Amino acid sequence: MRMSRERMRSTARHFRKYYNPEVGDAVRMDTNTNVLGSNPAAMEFVAKFKGDVNDYPNTYSDGLRDALADLYNLERDNFVAGSGSDELLDIAFKTFTEWGDNAVVPVPSYTLYDYFVSMNGGNVLSVDLTEDFQLDVDAMVSAEAKIMIMPSPNNPTGNSFKRKDIEEILERTSGIVIVDEAYGEYAGTSMIPRVNEFDNLIVMRTFSKAYAMAGLRVGYSVSNKNVTDMMNCVKIPYSLNMLSEGAAIAALKDQDFIKRSVDLVNKNRGPLTNGLKKLGFETFPSDANFILARSPVDHASFTNGLKDKGVLIRDFGSKRRTENCVRTTIGSKELNDLLLKKAEEVLKEVQ
Ligand SMILES: *Cc1c(COP(=O)(O)O)cnc(C)c1O
Repeated sequence: MRMSRERMRSTARHFRKYYNPEVGDAVRMDTNTNVLGSNPAAMEFVAKFKGDVNDYPNTYSDGLRDALADLYNLERDNFVAGSGSDELLDIAFKTFTEWGDNAVVPVPSYTLYDYFVSMNGGNVLSVDLTEDFQLDVDAMVSAEAKIMIMPSPNNPTGNSFKRKDIEEILERTSGIVIVDEAYGEYAGTSMIPRVNEFDNLIVMRTFSKAYAMAGLRVGYSVSNKNVTDMMNCVKIPYSLNMLSEGAAIAALKDQDFIKRSVDLVNKNRGPLTNGLKKLGFETFPSDANFILARSPVDHASFTNGLKDKGVLIRDFGSKRRTENCVRTTIGSKELNDLLLKKAEEVLKEVQ
């Protein structure tokens, strides 16, 4: 006899598994990782690692938190480190929400937010972004939610939110405000220097994108010491393993790699945007390492057609506000040329 889904925790019963494509040897322009490939300093650390894996790692990843404090001119106690920023999102909801609490999530934004809110027993209050994909400050604040979350630059639209809107939200709500800066290195602006000014601000960062270490799963949050301390009490001790922590510390020392990664994206964003426009796509402004574009043909036919030709991009076309849109990572010139060539072929085939 099959066990029914009714046996699952009620808050999780409607869940479906996350994006998990058959990759094979396809070119991945669907995950927004760094097209320069694995972080060299992290790889060197891993290759030379002689640590004692019989020991536990440091409980709260103090080594990494000290390295981050140096980088940002803050203190260890401003940081929580974890296994990907996804763990930090989970910690934030576990720390600051009760069963039944409301959480404001903008639409469109990162698909995993709904999962973290629901998993922790909360209600998702979806608030639409404005026509040009900016925050609707009044609508977000008037929802009077315990917590709200926004990625800036936003995924999947690519634009940053206006700084003054984020500041206004922080001032007008007593709820926790999470600004997810997964693509912050590309945008060049950040709320991190402001964490000590606000009671209720949590900034999230990751080593998965510009730092080119998605496989090692390292992320962190930045907030005032009070908030940090509460979150560290809730976090699963030792959740960041010692190999990943050491690799992240090594990666922080090589800021030149980050600069090269960001420069590459800035150089190739314009040409890729123009190439897509020439093919008939409507593109949206990006401050990140990806571009959202509305397809001139059916989104699913286009994405599947590209997949058959060995290029993966992400399909957002059946979601509200991104109707018929796809999202592609900004590659090197070679990768972008490949994408545009294959895209042109697909368009001819499906038209
Ligand atoms: C990729 C991404 C993350 C990264 O999550 P990790 O768990 O650190 O890999 C977080 N937020 C957004 C919006 C992202 O696009």
